[in-house]
Amino acid sequence: MAGENETTSETTFESLGLGSEVSATLQTLGYEEPTPIQVQAIPTLLAGRDVLGSAATGTGKTAAFALPMVEMIDADASTVQGLVLAPTRELAVQVAEAVHRYGKHRGITVLPVYGGQPIQRQLSALRRGVQVIVGTPGRLLDHIRRGTLKLDDVRYVIIDEADEMLDMGFIEDIDAILEKTPDERQTALFSATFPPRITELAQRHLRDPVRVMIKQERMESPLVRQVAYVVPRPHKLEALARVLDLESPTSAIIFCRTRTEVDDLTEALAIRGYRPEALHGGLTQVQRDKVMGRFREGVADLLIATDVAARGLDVEQVSHVVNYDIPQSPEAYVHRIGRTGRAGREGTAITLVQPREHRMLKGIERLIRQRIEPARIPTVADLRARRTELFRASLQETLIAENYEGYRGVVETLAEQFDLMDIAAAASKLAAETMRGEEREDERDLPQWTPDEVRRGDDKEGRGPRGRRDSAESPPRRGRRGDDGPMTQLFVSVGRRRGIRPADLVGAIAGEAKIPGSAIGAIEIADQFSLVEVPESLADQVIRALSRAAIKGRPVSVRRARDD
Ligand code: AMP
Repeated sequence: MAGENETTSETTFESLGLGSEVSATLQTLGYEEPTPIQVQAIPTLLAGRDVLGSAATGTGKTAAFALPMVEMIDADASTVQGLVLAPTRELAVQVAEAVHRYGKHRGITVLPVYGGQPIQRQLSALRRGVQVIVGTPGRLLDHIRRGTLKLDDVRYVIIDEADEMLDMGFIEDIDAILEKTPDERQTALFSATFPPRITELAQRHLRDPVRVMIKQERMESPLVRQVAYVVPRPHKLEALARVLDLESPTSAIIFCRTRTEVDDLTEALAIRGYRPEALHGGLTQVQRDKVMGRFREGVADLLIATDVAARGLDVEQVSHVVNYDIPQSPEAYVHRIGRTGRAGREGTAITLVQPREHRMLKGIERLIRQRIEPARIPTVADLRARRTELFRASLQETLIAENYEGYRGVVETLAEQFDLMDIAAAASKLAAETMRGEEREDERDLPQWTPDEVRRGDDKEGRGPRGRRDSAESPPRRGRRGDDGPMTQLFVSVGRRRGIRPADLVGAIAGEAKIPGSAIGAIEIADQFSLVEVPESLADQVIRALSRAAIKGRPVSVRRARDD
């Protein structure tokens, strides 16, 4: 299959011509290698050429133009040197954030400028002097006409999502803005589609541009069930957990974009009682082998990986491939999902798509020549039904295995007073409630997108409460070295089978041993036992207190975990 022909590119950000400061910034962001559009656009822009690019959101397009821009800006001059035109306020803010992130080490200042925001705030920021402006055309023109924005020193102009700006009627505004910039400037235009008016716009403003297109290879569609879920960023973790609960993969690879995301997701899933292992380029060969060993032996059931780390991975077959982030090119998608459905076996590929990434999904559909219909994110009712089904199945197993000898007496006594059917139902209720330990009180249904809304590119995202975005993005980090010094892992003799949840352990440890919940580190819950990290200095105190106490009404034994 096409996906097997890996381009084992050794391309690094530095080899594209980016300086050490910017490359170091990317390292801290966890970017392991440039995406296809970045490989093409970055050296071209650094060489001073104009660029005509075709790429959708999610391909790494923003970094493709923002990285060369922050590299080339004169950090000592406080005039506006870079200008990015974006169709919407959301995109302007997002691009400005990216420029800020990438330009941090170089001390580049950036300002988003869009309608709806008090102009006063923008004016005072402009007076202080900024080097990059990211704005929507209407508001930019306002400033130019008031004389509050001077573009005489602009050297780099980016027109982002040009086709969207065309749809919104901004073409004349763009012309008017570009007229105010020097002729010697460098210009790049990005658009997902190229209707005639965009081509004309490019002809008017770009000089002998280099075309940067992500080529689309053909592939045979494999024997894989492909599902997509449309999920805004703050709900991704919750959606993933629900999908995993419903699908119950026997072994799965979950792909993330960056190392940081791999680490965060691994931790968040471990806290939720899964058995994940992280695999990324930051691991040594020995660590990598260990991780793969645990995955192959089934000690871990989820492998959370970056594309780079998964390259050349020696895994026979997994039941599920999950794209926690939509891959940055359709080819990468094909490559990732090639890990499942091998040798005629069935496989499932699951992709989480943010509403604004709907174009990426279309690109993938075009390449695989197949529709990937967005599915409904499991609702609370779906999850309950699934849990009931699992319970019924394990009850059936117990009945078939006839290993309930000691309990017949209990039923016989009760049968003198109650109907047998009622006794069985009541016993089921009790048992199911314990098994449903993972059901959380705050479970609510997540927002759903209909296939039509997705196709229209309906972006309900931007309308949500803004502040929640960041707080819900990544789980609290629990490190190996907490504020209270080195951590020790404790073995606790109860696990998932007894309905133990992380909250039960935190509650018991905090309550019985009188140490703050925040001092507790990573928690892993296995079927029969749990592992909890606590500060070494408090380990004995916790062991003593818990050994006298009970968790969920059960006495437990606690000791230091051995390395095995
Ligand atoms: P964009 O296509 O610009 O909307 O970017 C999509 C996402 O990819 C953003 O969250 C970026 O932070 C991320 N990203 C961009 N370049 C890379 C890279 N080389 N490696 C990993 N993540 C990246």
